Amino acid sequence: MTLSEMVFLPYGRQQIEDDDIAAVVDVLRSEFLTTGPALAAFEAALCRATAARHAVACTNGTAALHMAALAFGLGPGDIAVVPSVTFLSTANAVRLTGAEVVFADCDPDSGLMEAQHFAEAQARAEGPVKAVFPVHMAGQCGDLAAIRDVADRHDIAVIDDAAHAIGSRYRLRDGETSPIGDGRLCRMTTFSFHPVKTIAMGEGGAVTTNDDALAARLRHLRSHGMTRDFAEMSRNDMAYDGEGRQNPWYYEMPEVGLNYRVTDIQCALGHSQLKKLDRFVARRRALAARYDSQLEGLSPLLQPLAQSQHCKAAWHLYAVLIDFDAAGISRAAFMNRLREDGIGTQVHYIPVHRQPYYQRRYGETALPGSERYYARTLSLPLFAGMADEDVDRVVAALKRHLGV
Ligand SMILES: *Cc1c(COP(=O)(O)O)cnc(C)c1O
Repeated sequence: MTLSEMVFLPYGRQQIEDDDIAAVVDVLRSEFLTTGPALAAFEAALCRATAARHAVACTNGTAALHMAALAFGLGPGDIAVVPSVTFLSTANAVRLTGAEVVFADCDPDSGLMEAQHFAEAQARAEGPVKAVFPVHMAGQCGDLAAIRDVADRHDIAVIDDAAHAIGSRYRLRDGETSPIGDGRLCRMTTFSFHPVKTIAMGEGGAVTTNDDALAARLRHLRSHGMTRDFAEMSRNDMAYDGEGRQNPWYYEMPEVGLNYRVTDIQCALGHSQLKKLDRFVARRRALAARYDSQLEGLSPLLQPLAQSQHCKAAWHLYAVLIDFDAAGISRAAFMNRLREDGIGTQVHYIPVHRQPYYQRRYGETALPGSERYYARTLSLPLFAGMADEDVDRVVAALKRHLGV
């Protein structure tokens, strides 16, 4: 065993550098640990990275989804379409507002909900659908323009879960690409900055939007549903003294909210990381291309993820599809053998409609594309700090265990 084989390769991990650490230390020595200048600077940087008018940072990607669902106004009696191949949060955010979820199927070879899967779920819903949450699996996206067309026909808002897709670009009808989160086709876009994601904040998330009113609501919801902006006050008798001076302590709560505020410590890390987005994405793309070239045509038992023509992916995950039945090995055994070789893998995701909670609530749903995707998917190591040789080592192990 060579030295490089001794190092365990996780499926994903953060890349923290000295300037990231220095940025965090600076905040620790500063006046504000939360809701200070680092938050504003991070949100401004996120607007630049996504070309969105507003970015509202929060505690994590789940909170971002929950805030977006609440800001849009989902609530009891409403219905939202969510792809079944996603992390729990996308569906849970809908349920936490009291609204019901209708699960959509996906392309079995890309894991993406396309317009036809969305339309099929919409037709299956037992009432009008108010929102749809496309999920940009692995950093790719489906045909967002086509999804938007279906949404427009039924007056449905598109809120995309871009936890995997900071730095990805989607293709517009004219062939041009634009950053995911730019707010042109989607009402709101949510991000996660968990350490396995492309940008790490420890825990962190954000919502981007071009809608001023939604941005204001998101900011309220993030902090107890309250405002300190005197332009927004409704009780002038309480907001001002007898001479028309603002009461300095005054705040108002126009609606009920949460505490989803994110610290300046996390924002400083996020901002420092965001400065490296282009470099991280370039590295991820180069590693993905190296996997592609080595895996293409390697064996009928294994195929790379189908590449969407509708985006330029930043590749959060490098997933492959393996026919475990034909290979004569279970996925568990396969993953364990790779682990013994020092290679971490993961499955993204167990289809959410199969979770006991959702099965109890909605019964059985037949989603053959999701099932077929789930049966074969395996995420291989991919992170900015990986060396080319790490890819070669993973491919060699795959070959060994598939016997090809
Ligand atoms: C990570 C993730 C989330 C949740 O983000 P957290 O920051 O972990 O709360 C939501 N959706 C998808 C698709 C994710 O991958």
